[in-house]
Amino acid sequence: MLELRDITTGYGKFRVLDKISLRIDAGEIVCVVGANGAGKTTLMRAISGIIPLWQGEKVFDGKDLTKLNAAKVTREGIIQIPEGRLIIKDLSVEDNMMLGAYSIYFKMKRSELKSNMGEIYELFPILKSRARQKAGALSGGEQQMLAIARGLMGKPRLLMLDEPSLGLAPLVVKTMFDIIVTLHTKGLPILLVEQNVRAAIGISNRGYVLETGNIVMEGASEDLLNDERMVKAYMGGDSVGGGGDKEDT
Ligand code: ATP
Repeated sequence: MLELRDITTGYGKFRVLDKISLRIDAGEIVCVVGANGAGKTTLMRAISGIIPLWQGEKVFDGKDLTKLNAAKVTREGIIQIPEGRLIIKDLSVEDNMMLGAYSIYFKMKRSELKSNMGEIYELFPILKSRARQKAGALSGGEQQMLAIARGLMGKPRLLMLDEPSLGLAPLVVKTMFDIIVTLHTKGLPILLVEQNVRAAIGISNRGYVLETGNIVMEGASEDLLNDERMVKAYMGGDSVGGGGDKEDT
């Protein structure tokens, strides 16, 4: 569904990603794991069109997106949930959700928007009950749910999640991974960037390991979970529900 071929990019003259090739097939959860600074967020920005590619190609559902900017990539249905959530805390929960619909707002009837919102509220009943409250009043986990809900308002054909478990308490992390699995079960392909390596690989079909801008390992999740080098380098003491520097409920 999405194919990156030998992409190279970075910031200014600073090269971060060096000839990365990666694919996500329809119906897959694919994770990208790696240490701080490996280039995971940069990879997402390159897919989203937030930063341009220096070299290489990006093809989505048969269409060449290599030169499209972020607004156009979003309109193709590739939607990124950024690290840190970027919720507008002074706006209500529902207004934050509506912001996610901007890319399709003029293409959809009001009734369709409402029905999309209704489906999303079924997934996140807590957001429905807090719809009129300021988003800043939500807990960390609820704000992460809101960030996902806002992304879903744009009717993604591919959802990219950047560190959804970051800073959340273990129980909330478990809920977050359950939500990702539910979205996947509904047929949404997902690209998941995580430092919570074991949990991320555990819910994925395949995974890639990024080290200083290069893919150093890739494979089916079962193989990665059983790979001795992987376990040693990335999963020492890591477990489902673990991870996260600062806990936030
Ligand atoms: P983390 O897990 O800490 O979020 P990451 O794997 O997502 O790390 P990136 O955020 O992609 O890594 O950063 C990769 C490299 O690019 C790092 O050396 C970082 O300092 C650099 N970098 C990231 N954003 C920028 C920017 N806006 N301008 C310049 N350099 C940047």
